[in-house]
This record gives sequence, structure tokens and C-alpha cells, in this order.
Amino acid sequence: MTPSVLDTNALMSITHRPPQVFMRGAGMWLWDQDGKPYLDFVQGWAVNGLGHCPPQIHDALMRQSQTLITPSPAYWNAPAAQLAHSLCEHSVFNRVFLASSGAEANEGAIKLARRYGQNFRQGAYEIITFEGGFHGRTLATMSACGKPAFAKLFEPKVPGFPKAVLNDLSSVEQLIGADTVAVMLEPIQGEAGVHEARPDFLRALRDLTRAHGVLLIVDEIQTGVGRTGTLWAYERAGIQPDIMTLGKGLGGGVPLSALLAIEQVACFEPGDQGGTYCGNPLMAAVGEAVLQTVAKPGFLAHVRERSGQLRAGLVSLSNVHGLGEVRGQGLLLALALGQSLGAQVVSQALQDGLLINSPRPDSLRLMPALNVTSGEVDLMLDRLDGVLRRVSRRKRSDAVIHVSDPT
Ligand SMILES: *Cc1c(COP(=O)(O)O)cnc(C)c1O
Repeated sequence: MTPSVLDTNALMSITHRPPQVFMRGAGMWLWDQDGKPYLDFVQGWAVNGLGHCPPQIHDALMRQSQTLITPSPAYWNAPAAQLAHSLCEHSVFNRVFLASSGAEANEGAIKLARRYGQNFRQGAYEIITFEGGFHGRTLATMSACGKPAFAKLFEPKVPGFPKAVLNDLSSVEQLIGADTVAVMLEPIQGEAGVHEARPDFLRALRDLTRAHGVLLIVDEIQTGVGRTGTLWAYERAGIQPDIMTLGKGLGGGVPLSALLAIEQVACFEPGDQGGTYCGNPLMAAVGEAVLQTVAKPGFLAHVRERSGQLRAGLVSLSNVHGLGEVRGQGLLLALALGQSLGAQVVSQALQDGLLINSPRPDSLRLMPALNVTSGEVDLMLDRLDGVLRRVSRRKRSDAVIHVSDPT
């Protein structure tokens, strides 16, 4: 039986959340404590690539939890070896470290780059990152972020993360010095509002970093595992990075992340890196099931088709409602609102049974399951149209009240 009131007070308050408590999910749908359904275009924050509670994850968890959950990080296990092998087979990388969260994978990438600097670059340690970039919430990854709201938090930060400007090669060039060991970026900045690193910029950045013996790290925690219509977003630029991090979509909803490196860069020494849950068989088995599903012939073509449909629908909503541009790739798309209406649209959508996200006050982000159907995309566009109508009607009536207010 579902209780009608759920007390969340014992949970530490860390962000503003709506009152709904989500009880159940299936595919593109979530149900709250009152049984109200919501069409979910947030999907765990670009996490549930196969939707809520997909059979592939259920089966992998059932099978592996009856076989081996964890032998200890001091021993090898087969699912971790299998997932690492599959990740290398499907990418340009040769070595994998498995972890549990995106921030943890990025911490690993930062440490690996610093280890590389110690071994091969006379102690170089600086990692150039980008304004607007997001890499996680540990102290080092927050220091790597270019998120303005993080700038003043938890000082002093970890030093060694100078910030360049996305798509501006000379801003990177100016920061490269003897201490520079790597450049790290998201192929598409997700949290900043879906801003793409242009393919020509990524190619020029690859040439520049190579010329200086500097590593190129791509944070594909949000863009990886099919999200942008190719298995990895770096493929679109035709580049070969030295290090890649994965999270979110890799586990499809369970805590799993990965740090991948090419052979010459995978230079951790015993004692440098580890973690109790790193490479545990239970999560690795899920990662393998997710990866095999996304890598199946036809799966990514479906993502690109749904992307075309969603993009065209958003463009036409933008025209009808006088909004801004549509940004992004694959099923990581944003609609610019042209004004700071994000919070109002998200809250009206919630009332109307639609979950969407506003990463910045002036834009909406859509990140459905990668196996979303064409009918679900149409239903979302229809609901969003209604939401935008209601929000703009309310704005007009507020304006009228304001103008005629005698005080
Ligand atoms: C979400 C995200 C992270 C952090 O991942 P967590 O699992 O929340 O630690 C890092 N980088 C990018 C690009 C992300 O989108």
C-alpha cells in the first residue's frame, strides 16, 4: 500500500525539490505517491539511456546478484574484465578504471594526468578547463568546473585549473605553459545549457595539445554511450583523445563510471588509485548489458531519427512561441527561451505531467531515454506546447495587473 504522505525531513536538504515523491518508473514514465503519471524527459539527468527499469538492467542485476556481488577490490573479477574489454573494443582506448560516480572518474582522470606529468613532463600538473564547464562536486572536480556559482564555494580550491573559453583556440594557447599537462572539456557542455564544442575547434585543440605534448581529456559523462547519436561524442570531430571519462548513461541508472586511457598514458603505479566499489561485478554486469544494447546495430540510428524529430518539433515550437535557438546533438537538446522563464516552464510542466529540466534560467534541456518512441516525442511536444501557452498567458495577465495597479 502506498502511504499518502511521505515524510522527507530526515533527508539532508541540499537543493530545492518539488513535493512529489516518485514511487515507480517504467520506460519514459514515472508515477508519484498519488499515482499521477509523468512523461519523463529528465530520465535521471541523462542517465537512464534505456528508460526506467529496463529488462536488460533487471536481468543483469538478478543474474549477477545470484552469482557474485563483490569479491574485494584486491581481486580480479570477470564482469569488470568483460566491461573493460568491451569499452576498449568500441573506442580508441586501451585501459579502463571502473568507479561509481562521474566525479570519481574525473578525479581519476585528474590524478592520471598529474601522474603522467610526474613521470614524463617534469612535474607538469596544470589542467586547462573551460568557463561554463561542469566536472563534478568533489573538491578537485569543483575546482575544475567553470560554473560561476561554484567560484566562491569551499575555498581554498585545488589549484591548477586555469580556465579557457570554449571554441576559442587562442584562449587555450595563451594558457599553455611549462606546467600544463592536460586540457579537459566536455564535447557538449551539458550543465551550462547544452553548448557544443565545435568539431573544428576540437580538431584544432587536438593538434595544439599534441604539438605541446599536452594530454586531451574528454569528459563524456553526459555525452557518452550514445547520448549524442554516436557511441562517443568525440567521434563527430574524428579526433583521438588521450583520456575519456564516462558515467551517467554507462550504468543506465545504477552507480557506475569509467576512466579510459590510451596505453601510453595509463601510467598509474600500485597505490595511486583504487576504491572499495571500483570495478564491483554487480555494477559492471549492468554496464556491459547497457553497452551491448546501445552498440547493437540500428540502436544509434534510432537515436538520430528521434533526435531529428525532437529537434524539428522544438524548432516549430520556438517559431510558434517566439523563442530562441535549438542546440545540441542526438538526444541531448536544449531550447533557448529568450528570457528567464525556465523555472516557470518547469513548474507548469510538472503540474501538466511532464518532467523537463532548465539548466539555466533561459533554456530548457531535453534528455529522454535513448529508446524513446516517436509517439512519446510527439506527446512531449504537444504537452510542452500547452505548457508554453499557459506560461505566456499568465505572463500577459501579470503584466496587465502590474500596469493597472494604482499603487
Ligand atoms: C553529471 C556530470 C558529472 C558528475 O557526475 P556525478 O556522477 O554526478 O559525480 C561530471 N561531468 C559531467 C559532464 C556531467 O554531466
